[in-house]
Amino acid sequence: MKTRREFLFTTGKAAMALGLSQSVASAFANNTKATQQATAQFAQKPLPYHLDALQVAIDAQTMDIHYNKHAAAYCKNLNEAYAAEVGTKQKSLEDILKKITKYSEKMRNNAGGHFNHEMFWQCLTPATTDIPEKLSQKITEQFGSIDNFKTQFTDAAKNRFGSGWTWLIQTNDGALQIISTPNQDNPLMNISKQKGKPILCLDVWEHAYYLRYQNKRADYITNFWKIVNWNFVATQLS
Ligand code: MN
Repeated sequence: MKTRREFLFTTGKAAMALGLSQSVASAFANNTKATQQATAQFAQKPLPYHLDALQVAIDAQTMDIHYNKHAAAYCKNLNEAYAAEVGTKQKSLEDILKKITKYSEKMRNNAGGHFNHEMFWQCLTPATTDIPEKLSQKITEQFGSIDNFKTQFTDAAKNRFGSGWTWLIQTNDGALQIISTPNQDNPLMNISKQKGKPILCLDVWEHAYYLRYQNKRADYITNFWKIVNWNFVATQLS
């Protein structure tokens, strides 16, 4: 996929090739830029680490395909669904997710897909740390120990049938809960059986691990714990 800079460059060059002057070519490029900004509502944030930085758990090729192809496609398709179903009104992604039953299947899959992946990248880091005290206490209070929490989360991830996600969420009453959602659904959606604020998530679609782990999802989950960005996860707590 072309970056905006490359896109503008080629657009400008194309205009010049058509015999337009430099200033017309540049105005054409600027106009295209404005149109792009008006239509592309959502964009992927740059990854906060290199593609090969998480190799202890996830290889560079998987990260490349996952971020640059799968997640990019969710974002592109979300923008299409938004243009078709929301149009010029302004709605946040969270607003859409909370009323997802008002929208199409395409919106459900791609609004979820974009939100979930953007959160997932933030949950990972090449430099994992101890769990910050406040979060560690809260997890221990709720699950008995950090190890129990990890075991329960791991089981939920292993037992997710087919494609989906595993989540640690904070419910309205402040409690922590481990849940799992199918496909690209998430706990912000009104159709989710268990709702709450996402604190930590794990993608268990085969595209997230199959190149390296094949059918061994359990090994992928074991290694996931080596790259959790606990500092980010702790900031998600209310
Ligand atoms: Mn994915």
